[in-house]
Amino acid sequence: MFQKLLIANRGEIAVRVIRACHELGVEVVAVYSEADRLSPHVLEADEAYLIGPPPSAESYLCADKLIATAKATGCQAIHPGYGFLAERAHFAEAVERGGLVFIGPPAGAIAAMGDKTEARRRMRAAGVPVVPGTLEVVPDPARAAAGAAELGYPVLLKAAAGGGGKGMRVVRSADELVRAFEAATRESQGAFGDGSIYLEKYLDGPRHIEIQVLADARGRILHLGERECSIQRRHQKLIEEAPSPALTPELRRRMGEAAVAAAAAVGYRNAGTIEFLFHDGRFHFLEMNTRIQVEHPVTELVTGIDLVQWQIRIAAGEHLAFGQDDVRLSGHAMECRITSEDALNGFLPSTGRIELLEVPSGPGVRWDGGIAEGFDVSLFYDPLLGKLIVHAPDRATAIERMRRALGELRIIGIESSVPFHQRVMEESDFRAGRIDIGYLEHHPDLLVPRPDEEVLRTMAVAAVLLEREARERSGIRRIAPAGGSWRIDRGWRGPVLRDWSAGPPRGGAPRRSPAPGLTGEGKRLEGSP
Ligand code: ADP
Repeated sequence: MFQKLLIANRGEIAVRVIRACHELGVEVVAVYSEADRLSPHVLEADEAYLIGPPPSAESYLCADKLIATAKATGCQAIHPGYGFLAERAHFAEAVERGGLVFIGPPAGAIAAMGDKTEARRRMRAAGVPVVPGTLEVVPDPARAAAGAAELGYPVLLKAAAGGGGKGMRVVRSADELVRAFEAATRESQGAFGDGSIYLEKYLDGPRHIEIQVLADARGRILHLGERECSIQRRHQKLIEEAPSPALTPELRRRMGEAAVAAAAAVGYRNAGTIEFLFHDGRFHFLEMNTRIQVEHPVTELVTGIDLVQWQIRIAAGEHLAFGQDDVRLSGHAMECRITSEDALNGFLPSTGRIELLEVPSGPGVRWDGGIAEGFDVSLFYDPLLGKLIVHAPDRATAIERMRRALGELRIIGIESSVPFHQRVMEESDFRAGRIDIGYLEHHPDLLVPRPDEEVLRTMAVAAVLLEREARERSGIRRIAPAGGSWRIDRGWRGPVLRDWSAGPPRGGAPRRSPAPGLTGEGKRLEGSP
């Protein structure tokens, strides 16, 4: 095992990797930009080094600085997390050239899967069904029009170098094609320095279902079940769960085998994900993510397998200690991505200081976060603040658990996507598992603010701040029950605090009162043991 490794990332995934390292007895070197001085990943690492100003191009994307820091601090390996340099083949190569281990797949596998048309060709050759479309780049609008006529509208123009939904355009008829082609080319050129475009049939209302794989150096490749990621906005995932409500054991097995074939076709090693679109009972290869994914915890919870630890173990040369038959799925897990976005106001980015943060706990609840009180959320990075993940015996119980946990999650200082997730947990199609990638378009009401909710939210924030002030004044660190005395889904849930030191009044217990301190009705705990 490594003695020390460097994490070339920030936020929740850096914290997640630190936790895995500390359980494995590996020391961690963190790097940070000037915007992240107070980040939990800096405070929790064994050593931390400032590598540059806030823009990622001058800090987290500086391959040379990262590799030099790893070498100067005696690290043997670099974990790239996700985003930033995680899927850049040249970075994986440079790390290895520097005499360090890249915790991820071989550079060749990253390159093969990073070019979407090459990936499609390789998958076709390996017998994995791909989304109908072209296997080559379409060089001009005329050839795109010919391809689209053959596929039938609607079609999707996609960036060959794509990622994060960039350079993608749905085209519904021939007269939209030229303009969409130019826009997709421009966007792709800007985002990836490569304007190559290819064509896919635009499927109507598929589900996004992906398979996690783990592969070791001796060539053993295992599939670890699926994740359903259909709740998306603008092709970006918001809620993920495992298992998918849509799969039968037979389909799960077939998709698992297709995923293993896909990984084998590029000589894969380490953790990876094969994404599929599932439509009319059939699955089609979409792309492979050659890294750990944001939504990996739902797989960890249903399989009991620590994916990040296995990434590190495999990179250190260990062989997988279990076989395909040992992988069993238990219960249901769900993850909500908590972002600094005002979801009920067009997902407007929100910035500012985290004034207060209280995270839920209790049975089956996990918080993978990258923020702390006093931390300033800026526009420099991805808006992901953390992930709320639950595990329960079945899907219905997982939804109730998520509702409970969301009610206990208190983030004050910035707007977050929590209210959106609370609404989804209440919505009947979601609860019934009737979801596909068009879910949000079919439920626009989920994104419209409701006046009563606005008022409640404002009052809730006022209540929390009052509570905190009282706490600070009295020197008592905590007077609120777990989750606080307000619940946006249910209104006031203040603790009933009455002075019964002289015995209960006649007539029994009083009715639940509003939050103490706001009306002066309740008795505060000051002075109580
Ligand atoms: P990116 O790499 O940019 O994230 P993907 O190919 O992974 O792009 O697709 C992201 C999302 O876009 C999918 O989850 C799905 O919602 C949608 N999508 C992609 N391809 C198609 C398609 N052919 N038909 C319908 N939706 C698609």
